[in-house]
Amino acid sequence: MKTDVLIIGAGAAGLMCAITAGRRGRRVLVLDHANKPGKKILMSGGGRCNFTNLGVTPANYLSANPHFAKSALARYTPWDFIALVEKHRIAYHEKELGQLFCDDSSKQIVRMLLDECAAAGVRVETGCAVERVRHGEAGFSVTTARGEVRAEALVVASGGLSIPSMGATGFGYELARQFGHDIRSTRAGLVPLTLSGKHQERYADLAGVALPAEARCGRQAFRAGLLFTHRGVSGPSILQISSYWQPGDELRLNLLPDRDAADWLPAQRAARPAAELKTVLGDALPKRLAQRLCELDFGNRPMRQYREAELAAIGARLNDWPLVASGTEGYRTAEVTLGGVDTDGLSSSTMQSKRVPGLYFIGEVVDVTGWLGGYNFQWAWASGHAAGEVV
Ligand SMILES: Cc1cc2nc3c(=O)[nH]c(=O)nc-3n(C[C@H](O)[C@H](O)[C@H](O)COP(=O)(O)OP(=O)(O)OC[C@H]3O[C@@H](n4cnc5c(N)ncnc54)[C@H](O)[C@@H]3O)c2cc1C
Repeated sequence: MKTDVLIIGAGAAGLMCAITAGRRGRRVLVLDHANKPGKKILMSGGGRCNFTNLGVTPANYLSANPHFAKSALARYTPWDFIALVEKHRIAYHEKELGQLFCDDSSKQIVRMLLDECAAAGVRVETGCAVERVRHGEAGFSVTTARGEVRAEALVVASGGLSIPSMGATGFGYELARQFGHDIRSTRAGLVPLTLSGKHQERYADLAGVALPAEARCGRQAFRAGLLFTHRGVSGPSILQISSYWQPGDELRLNLLPDRDAADWLPAQRAARPAAELKTVLGDALPKRLAQRLCELDFGNRPMRQYREAELAAIGARLNDWPLVASGTEGYRTAEVTLGGVDTDGLSSSTMQSKRVPGLYFIGEVVDVTGWLGGYNFQWAWASGHAAGEVV
């Protein structure tokens, strides 16, 4: 069969691109090998899809070229997506830090995208694997499980490697390489970190303990929740910093981000000289953690028995706790894939390949990765829209 635009991947980016191109009157076919469209949207945001963030700026994205995302993000903003959500009467709320979630279910976002596809005359076919792609004078010839498709434009929206059980594949990267594009090395992002050996033993039985903390790696820091797990650490501050961390990098935690512990502890000693350190720390930290820190590092005596210098050292450590991570939980649980199709080979305004006219890469397959909090969907919508306007 013949079509104007063939989009590989019926995820967030592919569907937005399809809607935009379909509204322009282009004949659009979207193919996905999974059994239904938008699987990651369905599982996102704990089933309520954190579909955008009111505070989106290019600084919320990691890429070898930090300028690449600017154009697309400026031309399709969170307010554009919110307008679509409101048009479909989907109730939503701001949870925190500008993060917008559906009140009810992620299913509403997928339904909305599919309804818009239908209204724009877009065909979406699932359960259809793409086997081979060739490019010639007449455009693209794509061999699929259901036969040959010819298209003037080919949009690769096949996502990254995270959550293989949801249909993630390295297909987009292979296709990019086939057409001479470079791939920035990929790794799991927004992912729990693992600890090993004595570092794991120190915290192993704290699994389930959660606290607000700041996680820092180099010059990047995130202040949000931290959660001890059976194998290491997770929670939003850790997921965020995981995208900046590489094996061997130093990680520091501020376990008392709201106070200067080196000032606070002497004040506590003056106010409660007979209280044990673990009791004092237990007022500011989860009790199990306070106890463990005392067992491991600080001892546990009445406050009056700690010298000024000791309290200063304990305080400094609480505000700057070293954490030695051994790795990440990997693509199995990662929310995103860092790296991907090198942006040097793409137009930042259209996402078109600079090597092969008519070939486009959008969404997570591109080397643009957002923070936790709705930023990744906003990139998928914006890059999909940018390509959809020109394909
Ligand atoms: C558990 C989880 C929760 C998340 N929650 C949020 C959130 O709340 N907010 C947020 O902003 N981001 C969230 N993300 C990240 C977000 O889901 C992705 O960044 C986004 O879905 C990327 O969109 P995409 O269209 O580029 O890729 P995807 O949504 O991954 O879509 C790619 C599509 O391509 C298909 N495909 C792959 N290979 C082939 C092939 N060979 N042939 C045919 N089809 C193929 C896949 O089946 C898939 O449908 C979450 C991710 C996960 C894993």
